[in-house]
Amino acid sequence: MNELGDKMEFVSAGDIEKYAYCPLSWWLSKEHKSVHKNGVKKHFEAGKELEEIKRKEEKVRLYERFVLLISVAATVAALIGLSFLYGKMEKTWNIFFIILSFLWLYNSLFFLYKAGKSSILKPRYEKIILLSSVGAIMIATFSIVFSLPPSPEIGRFIEILAFLWVVSANLIFYRTLNISEEIVEKKIKYAPLEGEIEYIGNSKEGKEMESQKYGLRGKPDYVVKIGNDYIPVEEKSMGSNHPRFSHVMQITAYCMIIEDVYGNAPPYGIIKYADHQFKIPYEERWKNMVINIRKNMLRDREKGEAHRNHNNPKKCAGCSRREYCPERLA
Ligand code: SF4
Repeated sequence: MNELGDKMEFVSAGDIEKYAYCPLSWWLSKEHKSVHKNGVKKHFEAGKELEEIKRKEEKVRLYERFVLLISVAATVAALIGLSFLYGKMEKTWNIFFIILSFLWLYNSLFFLYKAGKSSILKPRYEKIILLSSVGAIMIATFSIVFSLPPSPEIGRFIEILAFLWVVSANLIFYRTLNISEEIVEKKIKYAPLEGEIEYIGNSKEGKEMESQKYGLRGKPDYVVKIGNDYIPVEEKSMGSNHPRFSHVMQITAYCMIIEDVYGNAPPYGIIKYADHQFKIPYEERWKNMVINIRKNMLRDREKGEAHRNHNNPKKCAGCSRREYCPERLA
């Protein structure tokens, strides 16, 4: 039994979409798969492009970390080099700096402890830890190095080393800018620039997500992380100037899966048609409808039959299973 109090059977978000359109369409889809070759090709191409964006974004993040580390190392090296060029430091100052570095280090450990306790604030604390650890190391290093006798040779060698590091940091930074520019144009089609492509379902590697809590599973086309929110996006090859009910049910099912998988309910999901896109708020009323559809689907599965639940000939006229349907109205 799951949290909804029914049998622990999984239903896919794709089947929720079919059932919401017409229960009989879902039933017929088991035997008659309708494959829109163009749609599949477009999905696959979008998946490949998204993977490329994700790969490049990871590269940019790695390069940015390199640039930061090399810059800090070059600054420390330059200052150490200077200290070798110009004399010793008084003993009182030396002790003062060693105490300061210990206090600083203690401060880092405090934030490390806080970061371990809070997963939401972790990224913010990690930055403070990094900066304050670097500060502590710098102060401790200066207090030791300044107490050593001056040595112009060592000083000059370290200064040259620092200069070379600065040059390499600049080269890496330049490369990072180039890659970022390459990404921007492509990414804007899929996600806001501040968002990260978190998951790609429409690719060969895209694994199905499962919600034990709601008994749902599926692969949204992709998921974008904006701040702490994970937003599912579903692309449709057809055009539409309004969100279709069955698609709203499908995107809500993805929101429910994401709520369970990431432990954070998304504020909305996105449906992208060929000509328009819509933000569908993740609301209780849609969620209850998905829960009901899933229950009816399990009931029909057990009965071994499903029937048309509407009197709309237009629906039948646009149905991809019309050809095989014994209850069609058009
Ligand atoms: S043709 Fe009409 S009744 Fe038959 S499956 Fe499609 S929508 Fe349902």
